Amino acid sequence: KDSKKDFLLKIHEESLELFHHILLQTTAGEKALAYLLKRGLTQETIETFGIGFAPYERTLLQQYLVGKDYSKELLSETGLFVEKENGDLLDRFSNRIVFPIRNQQGKVVGFSGRLFEASDFETGPKYLNSPETYLFNKRNVLFNFDKARPAVRREKEVILFEGFMDVIAAWQVGIQNGVASMGTSLTNEQIHMLGRITDQVLVAYDGDDAGIEAAKRAADLLIDQTDFDLAILSFPEGMDPDDFIKEKGAPAFKELISHGRDTLFSFKMNYYRRDMNLKNESERLGYIEKILTEMLTITSAVEREMYMKQLAAEFDISIDSLNEQFQQRFYKQQ
Ligand code: ATP
Ligand code: MN
Ligand code: MN
Ligand code: MN
Repeated sequence: KDSKKDFLLKIHEESLELFHHILLQTTAGEKALAYLLKRGLTQETIETFGIGFAPYERTLLQQYLVGKDYSKELLSETGLFVEKENGDLLDRFSNRIVFPIRNQQGKVVGFSGRLFEASDFETGPKYLNSPETYLFNKRNVLFNFDKARPAVRREKEVILFEGFMDVIAAWQVGIQNGVASMGTSLTNEQIHMLGRITDQVLVAYDGDDAGIEAAKRAADLLIDQTDFDLAILSFPEGMDPDDFIKEKGAPAFKELISHGRDTLFSFKMNYYRRDMNLKNESERLGYIEKILTEMLTITSAVEREMYMKQLAAEFDISIDSLNEQFQQRFYKQQ
């Protein structure tokens, strides 16, 4: 006999089929499909990820599932509906491109829906996720974890993106070890999931203020938790990985991944100077202090010397004075 969990999974699978069919086979899905193709997604990618479209009409999914004899009680547990005051159910996802979110076994446990026409953005947030349900707990989910797993094992590395459009764009150009959290900051559960399949993480967040702050937070968490080897990809101001692939091309993206990565330390060197005016003497001193303190975390003497040299050259200070200052910090810490 099927358990409640089985039923809920089945409902998600059937909802996915309906949304996917609407996107690819009906006039109601034409505009959404045109949008995705214009963004550069191929038909194959749309199929691989099971992307769909939830039309404007807000009783469609409900009618479809009631027609398959699911009870209203069960339907209201899926998170796919919102309940009106009179108890009627309305489809939660309306007029949105829907991306299925899968658990570690590859089963659909929720959706994220994206508005795609500028005129619709006042009707709600750009992305809308399934709420927390019996199946879907966003702390425990990483988008694409199920499909990325073989590539992560092969590459011995996972790439952590901020958005799932980045995961999808990377996948389409052959970078298939990418995952994304669900628009929240990285959780301990997600870090634990990553830790079970790899100890190397490449953080590839958006090149805007929010992305850089989030990358800093994610890096601090990852370093704290376990012995991950971390590297960071930085993107030009305002660009995310998906934009980068589109503007600079797949070869440039692959080049960045293989030869353009920053160490955590050099990422932090750039991070701390973002809102500093290094022409100002006291800010310059503050920055050097900050970096020297940060350097206490580097255990490799060779690596430390490399950064010391960079600092010395950039600020025209002798390595000796930097070293002296560093030693003072070092003994203070002991
Ligand atoms: P797109 O290229 O389609 O705009 P994106 O991945 O670049 O998508 P971002 O705005 O950079 O989107 O946001 C990154 C991630 O944050 C998204 O994938 C989504 O998970 C989440 N997110 C963004 N906006 C919202 C929102 N309003 N509500 C919930 N989650 C959101
Ligand atoms: Mn962003
Ligand atoms: Mn983005
Ligand atoms: Mn984007």
